Amino acid sequence: SDLLYLRVRTGRIVDGLYAVFLTDMSEQRRFEAMRRDFVTNVSHELKTPVGAISLLAETITDAADDPDAVRYFSGRVVKESNRLTELVRRLIDLQKAQSMEGVVEMKPVSVMTVVRDAIGENQPQADAKNIAIRLTDNGTSVPLVVPGGADDGSAAEVGDEVTVMADDESLKTAVKNLVENAIHYSPAHTVVAVGVAEQHGKVTIRVVDQGIGIPAESLGRVFERFYRVDPARSRETGGSGLGLAITKHCVQECGGTISVWSREGEGSTFTIELPAAGDDRKDAKPSA
Ligand code: ADP
Repeated sequence: SDLLYLRVRTGRIVDGLYAVFLTDMSEQRRFEAMRRDFVTNVSHELKTPVGAISLLAETITDAADDPDAVRYFSGRVVKESNRLTELVRRLIDLQKAQSMEGVVEMKPVSVMTVVRDAIGENQPQADAKNIAIRLTDNGTSVPLVVPGGADDGSAAEVGDEVTVMADDESLKTAVKNLVENAIHYSPAHTVVAVGVAEQHGKVTIRVVDQGIGIPAESLGRVFERFYRVDPARSRETGGSGLGLAITKHCVQECGGTISVWSREGEGSTFTIELPAAGDDRKDAKPSA
């Protein structure tokens, strides 16, 4: 870095080199520890469904002459296998997001197009729970008041021509995961609002739900790999604890930031902020 370069240049070569060596070692060690943690976590996550499957298979063998029991336990084997498949799929997603870091192809991407696609892919799950996904293109009429995120009315309407420099697949994955969670952690007959706004050279994508919310003490941890607020409940519903880690990677890859606001029992708001790449109709007045 600049600092080390400066030190070498000013003649403190021994000091400087010593520092380089130390920094390198501690970083390497931290990386090693992270890798070990990751392998431990993955093994643990895989062990649970695999253990369940083998136990269920034994039960089926024991109950071979009871067709109802066989049917019931076979169903559970299918469910556990699906969970395993889902976990592996997520791991591959995470691996992809991490390995693509810095080499993704950034190009102008229409935010509204990506957001609409991401919503479309979640529509069946929303329909199944009678959850309405409401897309607002000017960031207003989001049903929850978000501290620091309130719109002051000056946000311009966001049309298809508003673009950000991003990798479209990464951005879509990020929004898709947020909408998926919003549906997953909300009761039936609620609303998930997705607001897209452009303001002060920034494009904001906000996913707001009226779901179970996240306890204050967990807010800082939800983007960690394998972190789940309620592991038992999440395991039952098939959560892998990887979705938000993947989302964060994808957002960062696109040069953006992601933040969360939530209150237990009221709902959660996830906000992606990206630098706006430009707007082809800059002169157009926002239609109020
Ligand atoms: P999972 O596969 O378990 O959903 P994520 O990484 O997507 O994993 O999320 C991590 C945890 O954050 C979840 O287990 C859940 O406890 C919490 N969480 C994420 N999104 C929401 C949300 N919209 N509402 C409430 N809790 C959420």
